[in-house]
Amino acid sequence: MKEFNKQVLLAAHPEGWVKESDFKIADSPMPVPGAGQVLVRNEYLSLDPYMRGRISPRKSYAKGVEVGQVMVGGTVGEVVASSDANFAVGDKVLGSLGWQLYGVADGKSLQKLSSAKLPLSVYLGAAGMPGVTAWIGLLRIAKPKAGETVAVGAATGAVGAVVGQLAKLQGCRAVGIAGGPQKCAYAVEELGFDACVDYRAGNLAKDVDAATPQGIDIYFENVGGEVLEAVLPRLNDFSRIPLCGLISDYNSTEPRGIPDLRQFLFKRIHLQGFICSDTPEVWPEAIRQLEGWISGGKIKYRETIVDGLENAPRAFIGLFKGENFGKLIVKLR
Ligand code: NDP
Repeated sequence: MKEFNKQVLLAAHPEGWVKESDFKIADSPMPVPGAGQVLVRNEYLSLDPYMRGRISPRKSYAKGVEVGQVMVGGTVGEVVASSDANFAVGDKVLGSLGWQLYGVADGKSLQKLSSAKLPLSVYLGAAGMPGVTAWIGLLRIAKPKAGETVAVGAATGAVGAVVGQLAKLQGCRAVGIAGGPQKCAYAVEELGFDACVDYRAGNLAKDVDAATPQGIDIYFENVGGEVLEAVLPRLNDFSRIPLCGLISDYNSTEPRGIPDLRQFLFKRIHLQGFICSDTPEVWPEAIRQLEGWISGGKIKYRETIVDGLENAPRAFIGLFKGENFGKLIVKLR
């Protein structure tokens, strides 16, 4: 067993764009599991946009990371020591052990992946938190009906890719919005979207119009900003917006203003913000369904895998510039 652990700590609460100097890589003593605890050697670390909110000095929906603390994050790994009878050395587990090579957690906070049907990293993506987020927002909140048009931004990302494919499984028209021709081609050719608009091409409003001849019934909001502004005029009466994320705003020092509220009134638009952890009771059902669709090839996924913990800060910053193509994951060994 290694003598030292390696961790990424928060060095400063960033204002505006995150910088690599906001993080510090540190060696620390190997953690020792107490009663009921398990020591895990992390294999994959998930990097997600929500982490920007956790390192902000401002209040968010969840407790933030303090300067000097280990960055939070979802992980999959292998048990290397256990004081919990439910976990044996060698078990593969899903947990939230953060940006570090080894972590200790209460057994009850870990989920065994020993009977996993899919590669372990997928439980951080399409069959994990982002997939469940897509499932809740689209199926539970927006409730699509066959024939409706569903639009989603960050369409090739961890959440958006699942939203589009779930929309197709429900018999809907799926329209993605993504950054660049390569991502748009992938959305249509590989993921089966009916159309995908490249928001970097310079004709966003016109291209959204052309891609949505019947208007939009569900806009799954991941992005905000100019994408939301382009989509709003295309929304149909009684359309629904599950408000999942606003990534274009996460590095701004001031939030963008509220878009034209008259459109919400005139079109009787239903907008609902949601956080995936609000409804833990639906997760087992969501994961069971997602696993089935992924194993059966009905939901495809793509990953950007970055090698080495020390590269996590740079990769995380890239999330807000569209440098990832699919779920962003760090391989720790
Ligand atoms: P992704 O894997 O999609 O990565 C982020 C992507 O966002 C980038 O690749 C980029 O794609 C796009 N992006 C980044 N900056 C901008 C910008 N300024 N304007 C437009 N697009 C941008 O991330 P996830 O799928 O994990 O997350 C998507 C959204 O879902 C985020 O807003 C996130 O916060 C939210 N979320 C919410 C949850 C909840 O419980 N409410 C849970 C999980 C995620 P491109 O190159 O196509 O622009």
